[in-house]
Amino acid sequence: MLNWQRVCLIGAVALVMSGESLAQRNLPPMQIEQLTEHVYRYGGLTNGAFVVGSQGIAVIDGQICGSNGTQWLKEQLAERFDVPVTYTILSHDHEMHICGLEVFSDTARAIAHVNAKPHIVREGRRTVVPEITFDERMRIDLGGIEVEMIYLGPTHTDNLIQVHIPAEGVLIAVDFVREGKSLAMPELRDLNIDNSIRALGYLGRMENVDIVVPGHGGITQQESFLYVRDYLQTLKDRVLEQMVAGKDIEEILEIVTMEDFSDYGWFDLWIRANVITMWEQMYHYREPTDDEGCYECDFPIGFPVGEVDKYSGP
Ligand SMILES: [Zn+2]
Repeated sequence: MLNWQRVCLIGAVALVMSGESLAQRNLPPMQIEQLTEHVYRYGGLTNGAFVVGSQGIAVIDGQICGSNGTQWLKEQLAERFDVPVTYTILSHDHEMHICGLEVFSDTARAIAHVNAKPHIVREGRRTVVPEITFDERMRIDLGGIEVEMIYLGPTHTDNLIQVHIPAEGVLIAVDFVREGKSLAMPELRDLNIDNSIRALGYLGRMENVDIVVPGHGGITQQESFLYVRDYLQTLKDRVLEQMVAGKDIEEILEIVTMEDFSDYGWFDLWIRANVITMWEQMYHYREPTDDEGCYECDFPIGFPVGEVDKYSGP
């Protein structure tokens, strides 16, 4: 090997190693926590879970790309249990939650909602392409313990599923709630508002749920669904009220402060983007009642500036 080639190779290896160690240094350490007889939570930056039956293991979600966390789990499972991983379950298509699940493909079949697959393929997610898809509900038996997957319609993405282990009262609810009373997400860009409000109400009252495992942060209880539902309903009502009153987004950011929800986790960091993205959702949701007024005032996105005749065009 020529000297310059050797230098380039060493440089490339050093770059890869420093990239990996940087990712690992900034991430919380990987941990496994047994929640019930058959159900475990695992993860570092994000929460995954696994369910161990007498015939096999189902792993719910991978870890963030670059963390090597999914491979770490594979090694831990091989050391701790003498049954294979027979299923991987993808909560939804967001890469942060599913990276690396292909490491289980030697023994496992991957399950996701039918809408997840096109996102995974189109966006080139670094994970397994689901082999089994379902629409409304699906149940698997791991030997002595059953896992039910439930789709409640479009909520956070059009393919988020809930994973329920009814016999042990565990619900894995990724990216829909956080621990205690908290905003769920930084912004509402890909949230179906009305169906989320319905689904959150359903999950808040669902039977056989003692422990809720969110995708981020500590475990929580069912009340968290109702806290998020109440917040979303109130934010929607208040933003709509101001839009109907003719306020623009800058005015709405001043008026809709949501101060009465300021005890929610992540409020200070996320409220501004939550209001803006709720406004954007409501912009698509409603048709303003106007007379011959300023059309581009009601529909500010994409129209030319200046007088526009609503019925005849510019
Ligand atoms: Zn997500």
